[in-house]
Amino acid sequence: MSFNYAPAPESRGNLSIKPRYGHFIGGKFVAGSKHFPTINPATEEVLSQIALAGKADVDAAVQAARKAYTSTWSKMSGKERGKYLFRIARLLQERSREFAVLETLDNGKPIRESRDVDVPLAAAHFFYHAGWADKLEFAGLGTSTKPYGVAGQIIPWNFPLLMLAWKIAPALAAGNTVVLKPAESTSLTALLFGELCQQAQLPAGVVNIITGDGSTGAHIVNHPGIDKIAFTGSTEVGKIIARAVAPTSKSVTLELGGKAANIIFEDAAIDEAIEGIVNGIFFNQGHVCCAGSRLILQENIADEVLFKLKDRMAKIRVGDPMDKNTDLGAINSKEQLLKIGELTASGDAQGAQRWSAPCELPTKGFWFAPTIFTGVTDSHRIAREEIFGPVLSVLTFRTPQEAIDKANNTPFGLSAGVWSQKGSRILWASQGLRAGVIWANTFNKFDPTSPFGGYKESGWGREGGRHGLSAYLKGIGHG
Ligand code: ADP
Repeated sequence: MSFNYAPAPESRGNLSIKPRYGHFIGGKFVAGSKHFPTINPATEEVLSQIALAGKADVDAAVQAARKAYTSTWSKMSGKERGKYLFRIARLLQERSREFAVLETLDNGKPIRESRDVDVPLAAAHFFYHAGWADKLEFAGLGTSTKPYGVAGQIIPWNFPLLMLAWKIAPALAAGNTVVLKPAESTSLTALLFGELCQQAQLPAGVVNIITGDGSTGAHIVNHPGIDKIAFTGSTEVGKIIARAVAPTSKSVTLELGGKAANIIFEDAAIDEAIEGIVNGIFFNQGHVCCAGSRLILQENIADEVLFKLKDRMAKIRVGDPMDKNTDLGAINSKEQLLKIGELTASGDAQGAQRWSAPCELPTKGFWFAPTIFTGVTDSHRIAREEIFGPVLSVLTFRTPQEAIDKANNTPFGLSAGVWSQKGSRILWASQGLRAGVIWANTFNKFDPTSPFGGYKESGWGREGGRHGLSAYLKGIGHG
C-alpha cells in the first residue's frame, strides 16, 4: 500500500519583502545607486532588487563602523555589550518564523531546515557570545585582551543568516564593530537583520550591512580602514584574500572548502550509518563546506550499504522548499547547478557509475536529484573537487589504514565522519585523520561552543567556542 503526503506549504503571510533595498549603514537604510535582482531559486521569481555597493558605499560603512567603535562600542563595558547581544538573540527567536520563511524563499533550502536548524542556531550563537561579552578575561586568552577595531566580514550563500551570526556574534562580543557583506544571491535575511539591529536599539554603526558581489567584497578586503577580515567561501577566493592582506597589518580568518570523508567500518550500526550518510551529503542540498561528500566504505559491507542507501535515497522528498515535508530543496543558483552538472559529467567521463534517486523535478527553478557515484577512485575529479551539491562519491577500502590514507588524500581538511561500534577504533581513526572537525557515529552536528575550522586548504583559524572568540582579539587570533 502506498500513500502520498498532502501538500503542507508554509505561509508567506506576515512577511513583507520590499521591492528594492539599500545598504544598512550607521543604523539607517541608505539608498544604493546600482541594483541587481535576487530571485527565489525554486521558482525563478524575482523577490527584490539588491543594491550593489561600490567603493564609496564601502567607505561610508567603514567610517560608520570606525565612529561607532571609537565613540561608543569600545567604551562600553562587556556587560552592556552582552545585553545587546542577548536582545538580538531574543528578537531572532521572536521573529524566527519570518527569518525562516525569508531564508527559504531567497536560498531554496527546505523550510524544515531553515526553521529547525539555521534560525535556532543563529539565535544560539548570539546567546552563547552574549555570555562571553563580560567574561573575556576568563576565557583563558589573557587578562588584557583587546578587540581589533573594525572587522570586515564576507559570507557565502549556503547558510546566509547562520554565517552572519557566526561572524557578527563573536566580533561584537569581543568589542569590535563590523561591516558585513552577504553573498549576492542571498542578501535578504542580512537586510532583515539590519532592521532587527534597529529594533534592538543597537548603537548606530556597530553593525553595517552592505550588499554586492565579489567586487564589493574586494573593496572591503582592500580597505585601509579595516583591521580584521573574516571570510567564508570558496578556497579560490580565500587565496585571493590571503594574497591581498599578506602585505598589510590586517588579521585574517578564512573558512574555505572541504571534501570530507565519511568512513563506514564493517562493525558500524548500518541503519544508523545510512541516516548519517544521507544527512552528511543531502542536508542543505549538499551546499555545505563540511558535507560528507566522499563515502569511504569497508569493502565487505559495500553491497549492503549501497543497497540500503539507494532504498533510503528513493524516499528523499525533493521539491517545493516551502513545503514542510520537503527534504531536499532547490540548488541556490543557475551557476551552481551548471557547476554541479560539469563536475558530475566529469564523473561519467572518467568512468564512475552514476545512480540518481527516481524523483520528479519541478520544471521551473534549479534542481538536481540526489545522486551517488560508485567505482570512484582517488584520482577522479569528483573525489578531489568540491561539488557543493547533492552528489556523493563512493570509494571502498580493505584495511583501516587504507581508509585513513584515502580520507587524507585531499587538499582539504575541514571535517570527517567515523562510523564504528568500537570506541578504540574511533579514537584511532580520529588521531589519523587530518580534519578540523571529526564526528563519530553522527554527522553535521553544530554547536556554538564547539570550534569549527580546517586544516590545509580548508582555511585559517576557528569559529565558535573560545577558539573562535580569540580570532576577534588582538594578538591571539591568526595573523
Ligand atoms: P561560492 O563559491 O560559495 O559562491 P565565493 O567564494 O565565490 O563562494 O563567494 C563567497 C563570498 O565572497 C560572496 O559574498 C562573494 O560575493 C564574495 N567574493 C567573491 N569574490 C570576492 C573577492 N575577490 N574578494 C572578496 N570577496 C569576494
